[in-house]
Amino acid sequence: MEKYIPDMYQKSIYAIDYHKLKNCGIRFLLFDLDNTLSSVGENKPTAKLKKFIEELKQEFEILIFSNSPKKRVMGFAEELNINAVYFACKPLRRKFDFVLQENKLQENEVAIIGDQILTDVVGGNKVGITTILVNPISTKDGIWTKWNRHKEEKIIKKLRARGLFTKGKYYD
Ligand SMILES: [Mg+2]
Repeated sequence: MEKYIPDMYQKSIYAIDYHKLKNCGIRFLLFDLDNTLSSVGENKPTAKLKKFIEELKQEFEILIFSNSPKKRVMGFAEELNINAVYFACKPLRRKFDFVLQENKLQENEVAIIGDQILTDVVGGNKVGITTILVNPISTKDGIWTKWNRHKEEKIIKKLRARGLFTKGKYYD
C-alpha cells in the first residue's frame, strides 16, 4: 500500500508549506493541472492562481505536468508563463524521468503536487520524488478521472482501515 501514500497531504495548493519544501532542498515543482491548479470546467487560470504562481516562481522552478491534451495544458502554461508537459501519462514514469534528466535534477530536489492518488502520487512515488496530495478543487472530473476516482475511493477505504491515510487529516 506504500505506493499510494503521499509524503504530504494538504487541502489545496495554497495550504502547502513551501518554505518547508525549500528547506528540504526541493527546488522544482511539478503541478498537476485539472482539479489541482484549476477546476475542469475552467479554461483560464484565475487571478488568484496567476498571482500565486508569480510569487512561487521567485523560489522554485515550476512545470505543469498533466495528462490532459496539448490544447488545454498549453493554454494554461501560456497564461501562467511557465513550461508544461501534456499527455504526461502519469502514473507511468517515462515523462517524469525525462523531466529529471532534461533539468539535471535529483529525485530529492523535485515534488509533484496533484489531486489524484492513482496518477500523481503513484507516479511520483515510483520515481522517488516527493509527493504532495491536495483535495480536488471540484467534484467535477473528466471521464478518465471518474473511473480512477472510483478505484481511488476503494484504496482510500483500505488505507484508512489500516491507519495509513485518512481523507481530511492533513499533514506535512
Ligand atoms: Mg488532477
